[in-house]
Amino acid sequence: MSAQRRILYVEDDVSSRMLVKQVLHAAGYEVMEAEDGMVGIRLAQETRPDLILMDINMPGLDGYAAATKIKGMPGLTDTPIIAVTANVVEGDRERALTAGCDGYLPKPIDVDALPDQINEFLGGRRERVDKEAERGYLREHSQRLVDRLEEKVAALTRSDAMKSRFIAIAAHELRTPVTVIRGYLDILQDPNGPLTDPDPDATTLLEGISSGVRRLHEIVEDMLDVTRIEAKTLDLKIAPVRLDEAAEKAIALHRENAEQRKMTVTLESMRHLPTIWGDGTRIQQILGHLIANAIKYTPDGGSVTVSGRVVSEKQLDTTVTSRLLDDQYVEIIVADTGVGIDRSEQDRIFEQFYEVRDPSLHSTSKTDFMGGGAGLGLAITRGVAEAHGGWVWMESEGNDPERCPGSRFHVALPVGAPPDQ
Ligand code: ADP
Repeated sequence: MSAQRRILYVEDDVSSRMLVKQVLHAAGYEVMEAEDGMVGIRLAQETRPDLILMDINMPGLDGYAAATKIKGMPGLTDTPIIAVTANVVEGDRERALTAGCDGYLPKPIDVDALPDQINEFLGGRRERVDKEAERGYLREHSQRLVDRLEEKVAALTRSDAMKSRFIAIAAHELRTPVTVIRGYLDILQDPNGPLTDPDPDATTLLEGISSGVRRLHEIVEDMLDVTRIEAKTLDLKIAPVRLDEAAEKAIALHRENAEQRKMTVTLESMRHLPTIWGDGTRIQQILGHLIANAIKYTPDGGSVTVSGRVVSEKQLDTTVTSRLLDDQYVEIIVADTGVGIDRSEQDRIFEQFYEVRDPSLHSTSKTDFMGGGAGLGLAITRGVAEAHGGWVWMESEGNDPERCPGSRFHVALPVGAPPDQ
């Protein structure tokens, strides 16, 4: 044999894999093994084998689905896939061929005949189902795929509901002890409290505890916000809101951090914006979070600009307007000169707990450049804007820590009407 032919064997049963491997090795083939359908698909793509032996009954993604997937992948359409299955049920061969396999070998594999059978398929042998029968099997195959998809969606929905319940319970349980600790800390740090004239070491220790507890409190509050947003129980206190004032207050909270990092934060064309109807504290929370992120993901010396304009629904992108119902919006833009965000991540960053960077790389301080949070901020920001009848979205050319293309986060909030109109 000239160049050694490479066979990928997708099979969950170890002993079958060992046996076939030995037989095919002895016949001069190189054999790669995959223990399930998912690994099989990945290895097929990575290694481009000359032939694939595919077990049909595997837990997780079965051989039918794996074969269908592989046949649709560029560069693998012509690679022969031979189904191997134990339960010799009427129609198994046709099912396998309809799913995309080119041949069928019943289990237990006849080891004496296997090398020759493989050789025939490598030489161009292809089995086909008769057209009339194929239609029925095709319908059955699609039905099976849809059934599996349905099961997966149901399982995901269940795990999503469990995750939401876990966040709600954890946040409520953590809230009480955190409140107690904060209360005692306030007493200990009170100049007129029990620690009169504490020594400087004790004061530093208390400040350390206090900053840790503040962060814990923020995380618990974020978890509670996520729970409220999901349950649609965010209680908005609607009143007239001046956006320039909300933005100024939000900036003021981050001024010191920006100065330490030699960054400029500028407010542009916000004065002329109309007063809108909304929850001032919540709107400040949105702007504060976007400004905090802009500072966090911009290297020292960069700049952040907050600007606003009035737009009609028609001036906004259709992907955004599909979310909006009003005619008139105020659009606030928080632009930075930071590292930017990869296009593939731009939707996902609004998901709960989604962080682009590995959380294990977090620095200990939240305010350090790129120091991470819990990945809840943007989910809350969007949820709060949505509760106002608005939306938050972003644009960035991509992520490049060298060139720093920057990011622009947009918030649209309806100008709205007083609650009683
Ligand atoms: P976190 O608490 O981790 O900052 P967020 O929900 O606020 O969570 O943000 C999610 C992710 O989006 C961040 O981990 C970060 O990678 C990315 N991100 C958010 N804002 C910016 C920005 N202005 N520039 C670059 N990346 C950003």
